[in-house]
Amino acid sequence: MSATKTSTWTPDGWRSKPVQQVPDYPDGDALLRVEDSLRNYPPLVFAGEARKLKADLAKVAAGEAFLLQGGDCAESFAEFHPNNIRDTFRVLLQMSVALTYGASLPMVKVGRMAGQFAKPRSAPSETIDGVELPSYRGDIVNGIEFDAEARKPDPERLVRAYNQSAATLNLLRAFAQGGFADLHKVHAWNLRFVAGSSQSARYEELAGRIDEALAFMAACGLTAETVPQLRETDFYTSHEALLLHYEQALTRVDSLTGEWYDTSAHFLWIGDRTRQLDGGHVDFLSGVKNPIGMKCGPSLEVDDLLRLIDRLSPENEPGRLTLICRMGHDQVLEKLSPLVRAVAREGRQVVWACDPMHGNTIKSASGYKTRPFDRILTEVQGFFAVHRAEGTHAGGVHFEMTGQDVTECIGGAQAISDERLGDRYHTHCDPRLNANQALELAFLIAAELKA
Ligand code: PEP
Ligand code: MN
Repeated sequence: MSATKTSTWTPDGWRSKPVQQVPDYPDGDALLRVEDSLRNYPPLVFAGEARKLKADLAKVAAGEAFLLQGGDCAESFAEFHPNNIRDTFRVLLQMSVALTYGASLPMVKVGRMAGQFAKPRSAPSETIDGVELPSYRGDIVNGIEFDAEARKPDPERLVRAYNQSAATLNLLRAFAQGGFADLHKVHAWNLRFVAGSSQSARYEELAGRIDEALAFMAACGLTAETVPQLRETDFYTSHEALLLHYEQALTRVDSLTGEWYDTSAHFLWIGDRTRQLDGGHVDFLSGVKNPIGMKCGPSLEVDDLLRLIDRLSPENEPGRLTLICRMGHDQVLEKLSPLVRAVAREGRQVVWACDPMHGNTIKSASGYKTRPFDRILTEVQGFFAVHRAEGTHAGGVHFEMTGQDVTECIGGAQAISDERLGDRYHTHCDPRLNANQALELAFLIAAELKA
């Protein structure tokens, strides 16, 4: 059954299915020309790398590792700068160290980076002062400015997003393999951290302990020469596979295995709004061999989930499918438990990850979209509680975060208040944890992992 499905799948099959959240391009010929050129551009990632991530995620599924996934809600053309990429990467490394040390588990590190541009929207248009314009759908589709020209979907943006992704990935590869991620530099990662922050001091103490461990290992003859993991790390990229024109153009046959891979990122996921069983997005991701994810929101029923798992992971291969749950702090216990129980009962191999961001977005009194730190933490703790009760592995976390000192989520040890949201509110879409809040959460999650 699954063999037949695989052999009849084609990268353009999604076009004959109902497809949500994909823009109407006013100039279809221009779109075709762009798709044609993208088809001839080099792959951004290689099939072998995607397979390595799948093997790493299989360890997560088995309870032998933990997934740390994070980055922007939406990357933007305006915020494209090497320092921003470096700072997000650096905070992910710091979080990873806090989690690895606390939980004694290896971290599988995946950025929402180098391709996270397209955004699903709750309404196709927005009206301001009586003027109605198409919604902003991410820089890969249209511009965020509220004017008719900017909001027109422009296919040339696919090329710009590809180029920005290639440059971002190039820098990330250099950071991961070229010395920046060397564990002997744990202190240096902290240098540019928000001065005097509570988490900075806590991190320094941890870095001191890691130094001691490294010195002990070196005395035993274990140095970066013999243990390359001390000097470099694996870092993977991911984004929501939303704009299927772009994803299809980057989907290629792997010469080694003859199988299809979406080479726009190592890991692709289906959003909560586009996970219809018979829809184009599910069809598309069912046919590529990358490790994939699916967001699970509070409207997902047990039967639908089991059908979706069969469709997306028919071979039940560990590491293939990650379920990224985003139920909300007040619904996580009630909604997640039956899903986890049914999946375990049916023997389905999945990675369970917690996205505590998307179910906890509120409008603040000052009018900004925000997320309270305590609700984010409550959802993560609920996620761990469910897995403890069901005897399953709480496999990972998925955050919207940045290495910058923004003021977008309220609370945390920094106690960002409603009134201060306007100070540095820079996101192009959803509110992100800042560097301090992200590291604070990592320490709190390490405690959950130890419990
Ligand atoms: C997102 O991850 O940015 C997103 C839109 O999430 P969800 O599909 O879970 O709403
Ligand atoms: Mn988001």
